[in-house]
Amino acid sequence: MGTMDTMGMGTSDTSDTMDMQAPPSPEERVAELLDRMKDSISDSDGARLRAVYEFAARAHEGQLRKDGSPYVSHPVEVAHIVADLTPDLESVMAALLHDTIEDTGFTYGDIRRVFGRPVAELVDGVTKLTRVPYTSKEDQQMENLRKMFLAMAKDIRVILIKICDRLHNMRTLAYHTQQKRREKAMETMEIYAPLSHRLGMQRIKWELEDLSLYDLDPVGYQEITQELAIRHELHASFLSQVQTRLSDRLGEAHIEANISGRIKHIYSIYRKMYSMHKSLFEIYDLYAVRIIVDEMADCYNVLGFVHDLYKPMPGRFKDYISTPKPNMYQSLHTTVIGREGMPFEVQIRTWEMHHTAEYGIAAHWKYKEGLGEGQFGLEEKLEWVRRLLETQQDTDAEDFIRNLKIDMFADEVFVFTPRGDVINLPAGATPIDFAYAIHSAVGNRMMGAKVNGRIVNLEYNLQNGDIIEVLTGSGHGPSRDWLSLAKTGEARNKIKQWFKKERREENVARGKEEFDRELKRAGIPMSTITKPDVQESILKRLSFNNYEDLYAAIGYGGIPALRAVNRIRDELTRINQLQSDKETVSKLISQVRNAPAPVSGVVVEGVDNCLIKFARCCAPVPGDPIIGFITRGYGVSLHREGCRNALTSQKNSINAGRWIVVRWSENIKEAYQTGLCLSARDRNGLITDISSVISGQKVPVRRINAKSLPDEKALLHLTLEVRDLKELDAIIRRLYLIEGMREVSRCSIT
Ligand code: MN
Repeated sequence: MGTMDTMGMGTSDTSDTMDMQAPPSPEERVAELLDRMKDSISDSDGARLRAVYEFAARAHEGQLRKDGSPYVSHPVEVAHIVADLTPDLESVMAALLHDTIEDTGFTYGDIRRVFGRPVAELVDGVTKLTRVPYTSKEDQQMENLRKMFLAMAKDIRVILIKICDRLHNMRTLAYHTQQKRREKAMETMEIYAPLSHRLGMQRIKWELEDLSLYDLDPVGYQEITQELAIRHELHASFLSQVQTRLSDRLGEAHIEANISGRIKHIYSIYRKMYSMHKSLFEIYDLYAVRIIVDEMADCYNVLGFVHDLYKPMPGRFKDYISTPKPNMYQSLHTTVIGREGMPFEVQIRTWEMHHTAEYGIAAHWKYKEGLGEGQFGLEEKLEWVRRLLETQQDTDAEDFIRNLKIDMFADEVFVFTPRGDVINLPAGATPIDFAYAIHSAVGNRMMGAKVNGRIVNLEYNLQNGDIIEVLTGSGHGPSRDWLSLAKTGEARNKIKQWFKKERREENVARGKEEFDRELKRAGIPMSTITKPDVQESILKRLSFNNYEDLYAAIGYGGIPALRAVNRIRDELTRINQLQSDKETVSKLISQVRNAPAPVSGVVVEGVDNCLIKFARCCAPVPGDPIIGFITRGYGVSLHREGCRNALTSQKNSINAGRWIVVRWSENIKEAYQTGLCLSARDRNGLITDISSVISGQKVPVRRINAKSLPDEKALLHLTLEVRDLKELDAIIRRLYLIEGMREVSRCSIT
């Protein structure tokens, strides 16, 4: 049941460079490739693959690798690595052809004609990545470079092929100079291993890291491998003893499990020794035991048995099943202490989780049923992204998703400075944006730009991977046209800033010209807006101290002339409205004052005689607090304070000035009409009872309306004439005493 992985670096079937036997020929390896793929592709596809190989062999004819083998052996091995990840025929075909555009006379067009567009696109994508210049940089730059890789690839399969290409190159680096090896190792460590990690391809990532470490720190690498080799027996017996014990226990519990033990990969040990300043003997999680089961529920069962057999180390349990890592990795992790006090890590997962851990994003292509041609499109990628979104919240995941959404990278472009720094700009950015992103002084002195060594005009849309050189000269300044060519706000702001500072007089003159034109078009004479009080409120509205500042702002593009004039028009309208309101009110007040008919009972503050009208909506009677509203043409209308109509009108700023203070006079003789609403249980004699209450009070009733509603309910409306509130309150109190009366309230007069 258990197996013991071999220790140390690169142990794949193709990597055994120490092997003294003659390596198999490319033809033999192609036969093996066809054989391993025969289950996932049709016979005719097999024939196509063979044709691709023959094309590649012919294209690379006469070329040799450093070790003296025919060059085509390299693409064949890369195709093997790709086929190990995915049975996608196009990917394997493209792997066989991946160096043809770069290294042979054939072009994209040739490959498209012979093998179709999808394969040609993949080969072209790999070629473009090959041409991305690389120099070691600080972290932020590396991150941009990795993003650029993803952005340029457009298709995630391009990245896969490129990573496989790099893996094979790293496996066969021995014949290169030490300098070259270190360069490649550095690039692999900074670009390809992190990309493999992001795509969840753990196994490839480990191998890339170990191969890189071998060249980057040969001494450190040897130290670890030698120590591990010396203690090989010890490690092997420890792991096999653990395996046996676990397998016996799970067997008793009838849990079907695959158990394997290994020493962790060299780079991870190296990193721990380095970061923790510890020797190899002090690193406790040197060992990893992996238990693979069929069902997710078994994972947790197995965990129980593991903790039962061995003492868990506190704080070392991690449930990546319920919370997967950003790259979709799922497993249970725990570190336990073995019999001799030796700690080891146990990883528990299902087969499906295992495939994801090993192959990452490719696992989801590999294990999908009924895969046809061209199905690795956008949908596949979106599915992957969607699943990530569902399961991940942390920022690392967000970053990962951003980097994975290749098609959604359409809104960004990554370009180089001549020094090799990566600059990230929005898609559609021009050399102007680039120049201002470098420094405003560079932008302001720009005369032109070179892209990949050729002069371009400033409208040129930057492409991923372009190398941009800004040509500058003294005595130059930006042109106003640049404002429409620049894509970034940063560039536009800096250009405006320049005009603002450098060209005050010119701006004022130009701004005034534009302003006058718009003002004329709007039909507003200059004299209107220079009247002192008008001018003051306009400038305040526009937030300028004087018109010259406004012209300057228009001149450098800080505010469009049309917008300024529109605001001025609004302000003029407001001023006029205010004016006409004032006039209306004073006219009305004078009308009221001159009105002939005096009404006794009410005093309007500051006015001796005026026309009075009692609002029907609230029908006030003496004793009610009241307010007056100057109406157009009817004098003053009286409302009760708190009347809904009055409140609404008072909130309206235009009406606000028309509300005035009024009060009842001292000696009132006449009676006033008002309304009451009654709600009661409907019964015989109800109306009679109401009438007798009212007539008992000697109050005239002007009108009664009664209505029967369902559920024995009656609604009545009375219009009465009362002398004051006291009298009205007495009536209300008595009405409440009538049998079946539910509610009595003040209301309008109908
Ligand atoms: Mn290659």
